[in-house]
Amino acid sequence: MTERFERAVFLDRDGTIIEEVGYLDRADRVSIFPWTIAAIQALNRAGVAVVMVSNQSGLARGFFSEAVVDDVHRRMAGLLAAGDAHIDAYYYCPHHPDGKVAGLGVVCDCRKPARGLVDRAVAEFGVDPARSFVVGDRWVDIGLARAVGAKGVLVRTGYGDLEERNPPRGMNADTIVDNLIAASTWILAHL
Ligand SMILES: [Mg+2]
Ligand SMILES: [Zn+2]
Repeated sequence: MTERFERAVFLDRDGTIIEEVGYLDRADRVSIFPWTIAAIQALNRAGVAVVMVSNQSGLARGFFSEAVVDDVHRRMAGLLAAGDAHIDAYYYCPHHPDGKVAGLGVVCDCRKPARGLVDRAVAEFGVDPARSFVVGDRWVDIGLARAVGAKGVLVRTGYGDLEERNPPRGMNADTIVDNLIAASTWILAHL
């Protein structure tokens, strides 16, 4: 029986939890930000579900396999566990409308900003999206927050610095902060 949570903090992966390195096609290229473990540990201790939500269109494009993605997440889990922190679920969308890989080149309901990955956490953990948070370095992450009624936090790591300077019309984050530890601090103050 899975643990139940009232709230979740949905974390984008690339550029938010770990360095943005383009298509991450090898687990040994994982580079975790120095503040990530402390940030996630603080969220763990606050009793919220920490759920990774990531668009991995490299799968649909045939750039790497699901085995590689699983390796990356195992590597991340190991690094976090060494610092007494954990991510409760690793969710990703393998699709892209232009993908050539059979079955993955589709319009889906789980590619951010679509809400499918959040709905999966609702089913698995019982979380209320309206009392939850989404943290990411792209406007699609904030779009996901808007789609589910969560608070949206843009971080300046990864593409965030560039994204901050180019906001889509009508889109704004609940806050924009330097990195994941600042996001975690803001979230803990707004629980
Ligand atoms: Mg990102
Ligand atoms: Zn999808």
